[in-house]
Amino acid sequence: MRERNGVDVPPFLICSISTTCNLHCKGCYARANGIAADSKEEQKPTLSPDQWKAIFEEAASLGINFALLAGGEPMMRKDILERVAEVEDMIFPIFTNGTLIGPSYIAFLKKNLHMFPVISIEGMEHSTDERRGKGPKYREYVKLGKKLPNPPQFVFLSKPELIHLLAQADLYVHASDMESEAISCIEAFATGLVPVIANSEVSATPQFALDGRSLFVPGWPKDLARAIDWWLDHLEEKTRMEHEYAEHAKQYNIDESVRQCEAMFREAIDEKNNK
Ligand code: SF4
Repeated sequence: MRERNGVDVPPFLICSISTTCNLHCKGCYARANGIAADSKEEQKPTLSPDQWKAIFEEAASLGINFALLAGGEPMMRKDILERVAEVEDMIFPIFTNGTLIGPSYIAFLKKNLHMFPVISIEGMEHSTDERRGKGPKYREYVKLGKKLPNPPQFVFLSKPELIHLLAQADLYVHASDMESEAISCIEAFATGLVPVIANSEVSATPQFALDGRSLFVPGWPKDLARAIDWWLDHLEEKTRMEHEYAEHAKQYNIDESVRQCEAMFREAIDEKNNK
């Protein structure tokens, strides 16, 4: 475009598509600047789904490959995301707090692979909750947990505390049926713990299992017990696999992850330019 018409086209766009959010994080720039508000009266008017689609179609025709969708919380505007998804010539990272990702959004994201969430965290759980709040279900979970024979602990652990705790464990069980805190699974097997992971279709965490012995049928406690018993009955094999899992974790360290992320963006840009 520059060569043809002398016009500079930006390589990507950042678009605030939502003027509201379901959280009240400390120091939120969007709320401080009046971009995001709670009540309809306070919210600034937004563009319609059709207007956003038209903008991205025009951007794609100018050769712009990426549009980062921000807010407020962009996932509060599914109507816009659904319309924008029709612009298949662009890649849309969605900058989100991640709290609205449930079965419906998972199905939507699976169908629209050119849109993907980039979830904001402040660091480990403690730092994230410190800024973003503990979440709407925290009290309910504490109450439910009290009824169990071995009540769960809801605690914040520093890095050394977490490593110390993991070092005392025999196995790491990742029981979540949906994509949640997969990073904790990586942390566990990076310290040489064999994971036992719920083999759920709506979670990416099962991909970390090196074989079927680290998987169990989600929502079926008997199958979880079977998987745990197998490892505890085969301690020699468990020790061998602990080394394998620690090796396996190296590909997820920060340097390697950044390298792979860069390669992915380069490949996407090359693919788009060679279309
Ligand atoms: S999630 Fe983002 S937009 Fe929402 S309150 Fe937190 S910082 Fe602000």
